[in-house]
Amino acid sequence: MTEPNGHASTSWTRPKQVVIVGGSLGGLFTGVALKQHGYDTTILERTPTNLLENQGAGIVAGGDTLTFFERYDRCKRPVAVPAPRRMYLDQSGKVVQDMPLKGTMTSWDLCYYLLRANYDHQESGYCKMPGPQPGDGKIDYRYGCTVTDFQEQDGKIRVFYDKSDGSTESIVGDMLVGADGPSSRIRKILCPDVERKYAGYCVIRGTVPENEASEEAKKVFVERFTFFHAPGIQNLTYTIPGPDGAMEPGKRLLNFVWYTNFPEGEQELEEVMTDKDGKRRRLTIPPGMMRPEAWEMVKKRGRDRLPPQMSEMVEKTKQPFVQCITDVITPTNNFFNGKAVLIGDALAGFRPHTVASTSQAAFDVLMLIEYLETGNHAEFVRRTMEYARLVQQRGVRIGDRSQFEALPLQEYIDDRTMMSIPRQELEFPEWTQVRI
Ligand SMILES: Cc1cc2nc3c(=O)[nH]c(=O)nc-3n(C[C@H](O)[C@H](O)[C@H](O)COP(=O)(O)OP(=O)(O)OC[C@H]3O[C@@H](n4cnc5c(N)ncnc54)[C@H](O)[C@@H]3O)c2cc1C
Repeated sequence: MTEPNGHASTSWTRPKQVVIVGGSLGGLFTGVALKQHGYDTTILERTPTNLLENQGAGIVAGGDTLTFFERYDRCKRPVAVPAPRRMYLDQSGKVVQDMPLKGTMTSWDLCYYLLRANYDHQESGYCKMPGPQPGDGKIDYRYGCTVTDFQEQDGKIRVFYDKSDGSTESIVGDMLVGADGPSSRIRKILCPDVERKYAGYCVIRGTVPENEASEEAKKVFVERFTFFHAPGIQNLTYTIPGPDGAMEPGKRLLNFVWYTNFPEGEQELEEVMTDKDGKRRRLTIPPGMMRPEAWEMVKKRGRDRLPPQMSEMVEKTKQPFVQCITDVITPTNNFFNGKAVLIGDALAGFRPHTVASTSQAAFDVLMLIEYLETGNHAEFVRRTMEYARLVQQRGVRIGDRSQFEALPLQEYIDDRTMMSIPRQELEFPEWTQVRI
């Protein structure tokens, strides 16, 4: 496929039909880009309904996320709210650092609906519908399809899936893209020894409408990226688009991301991870499923330990959700001679301190397009892996420093600033390199 020097060999045949497993942001980035480059795609998504459930939460839109939308979004509407200043609070709520540093914040639901509009013309209040264009590949979004297995057959890939009606089907493609998230089934088949491990703390998340916040809270959260650090705690709060992607002041949401320690095996972790139906969830409590008693316990923790503006956000949140922070990374992205690839969280599940999960998915897809257009598989493996390894390792380091060490504030500021370095300026040490 590629010569030892990394250049495409003349025998490279572009795939025609690509099967994508996972229909969230990573799968949709893949589907939208491949469609516009003329590839036929089928997305298989296990969720039994046509639309994924909106968690309504924020995403820091890193460089590659914005590049992706600039290049492939045909709806042409704004994607991100600016945050021109970064602030740090102390526990009394006083601003102890205030610096000019540009951030761009978006929401999961705006990205999702924009991508669905671009992929399969899903109508919503988020954007105008772009029409099909000549040269687009065929698209097929199948929900209620849980992929269980795949095999190589006669040079192609056959993918098996269970449907929500209990039947089993399969589909054949020239290539398979695993975009099925941090607990990826595709990764489990390719690399059965890779495990996803709990890091010892959770993130509590929620949003409050901008116009329901007090003046004190608005001063530090509206169009700001605002942090607080204390032993075992990190909180960051910022402004994101509102319902239907609203960007107008007053209609947006204030989004908080509050990391707080819950050691494995301790009763408080059991309490917070048991949902309102009494079920112990492994890694997430989705919006609307938190037990009122657990939420009271979390709110009290907020009142005791957070600055008042951040505690106010917790108190005013109506649909909180909880995610356990985990670590997972795949050792390579070289499978089946390049006929199977992993992208996004399936390749490496970053700690959210990196604010890079969505941009990783966008970057991997930009690299995938280069690979498919040139046949340079070795370069695809090298670039997706060096980025995954570097950022995953940095996420573990800054996450552990934030949650398990008590450092001077300046060190946390330096950690955060390191994660704002544009990808193009990163240096990739030797240990990040995977060459094939
Ligand atoms: C419903 C949802 C809401 C989210 N909301 C936020 C948010 O508000 N803020 C934020 O920062 N991040 C959010 N995320 C995470 C964020 O989207 C990702 O971290 C990032 O965009 C990379 O996404 P990904 O597509 O690689 O993985 P994921 O987002 O995890 O998507 C993986 C997809 O694969 C599907 N899937 C898994 N296994 C199978 C299988 N065997 N067969 C078929 N399909 C399968 C899952 O249902 C899921 O839709 C959310 C993810 C989801 C799924």
